[in-house]
Order: sequence, then C-alpha cells, then structure tokens
Amino acid sequence: MLIDTYDLDIFTPPCEPGAERYSAVARLVVDISHVLPYLNATLRGAIYHQEANALTWKKGGHNIAFHAFEIATSNVVDRDGAIKELDGLVELVNRTWERRSELSPNFKRRRRPTPMDVYKLLPQTNCKQCGEQTCFIFALKLSAGQHQLADCPVILEQEHDDKRRQLEQIVIDAPAIR
Ligand code: SF4
Repeated sequence: MLIDTYDLDIFTPPCEPGAERYSAVARLVVDISHVLPYLNATLRGAIYHQEANALTWKKGGHNIAFHAFEIATSNVVDRDGAIKELDGLVELVNRTWERRSELSPNFKRRRRPTPMDVYKLLPQTNCKQCGEQTCFIFALKLSAGQHQLADCPVILEQEHDDKRRQLEQIVIDAPAIR
C-alpha cells in the first residue's frame, strides 16, 4: 500500500470567510507524484500539469487536487465528511498504483472543453426540454458544472449515441448515462 496514513487539515477557504463548507487536505508522508500520470490515464475530466506536478479533478461537487505530498478537496460539510472524502481519494490513489502494470501512464495535459466544444456535440434543436432556452445556454451551464449531461433527454436518443459518448469523455464530471 502506497499511502497508509495522513494528517488531516480542515479549514474555511480564505476566499470564503464564514462559509459553511470547508476545504480539507490530507498531508502525506509519501510522494505520490509518480501516480499522477496513471490517474491522468484513468480519471475522466482530470487535468494534469506535469510541470507543476499536480493533477486536478472534479467529482460530485468537490474540486480535488493531487500534489506530491498532499491531496486536497473542497466543499466538505464537516470533519467526518472530509475524512470520508479523503479516505476515498487515498483508496483511489492506492488502487491506481497497485494496477499500474495494467495501465499506460498519460503525461499529456488535456484542455478543459469550451462551451463551443460541448455545443458542437449537442443535438442543437433548442427544444428547451432541459429547461434552457437554447442548446448553447445548456452547453455553457454543462461546462460550468451546473447541469449534467442526462438533463438533456434528446442526447439519450439512439441516433445521438456517438456524440453522447464523445460528450461523456470531455465533460468534466459527466456521469456515463448508460
Ligand atoms: S434538451 Fe438538449 S437538445 Fe433540447 S435544448 Fe436542451 S440541450 Fe438542446
């Protein structure tokens, strides 16, 4: 096991004094730099910065950052929530490291998809079934994490399977629909 213990820091983000949600950091005694390219190869929507030795990822409303000796997460409710979230991330790092012989490390830096990248793959019917006036507004909100791909029922239709799969690959934190 690569990480078997960590020290927990939990604090209010400096940009949000008085916030009711907290940020939390697991301070590690082992260097996890060598795991980051493997995480980059497996985590959909992860952004790897090789020069900065950092990988960022969004999951379930949390902004997550992996660095050499720490794992940070945002938007936790309390200490128990922070421990649960960080324990899951530690397990993810350990599991990825154990599976490294099956994986190809990816050192490339992906760029975040722009709203236009997303829009090009949407059905572009402006049917409003997602609650937005246009597909482009939906694309803007999807890129910002304010919608999920599944909020567009039209993309579920079989004729859009190919574009839906492409969207699932590029949209940060977009769950696979089926
Ligand atoms: S439901 Fe889908 S196709 Fe219809 S407007 Fe929204 S994004 Fe466009």
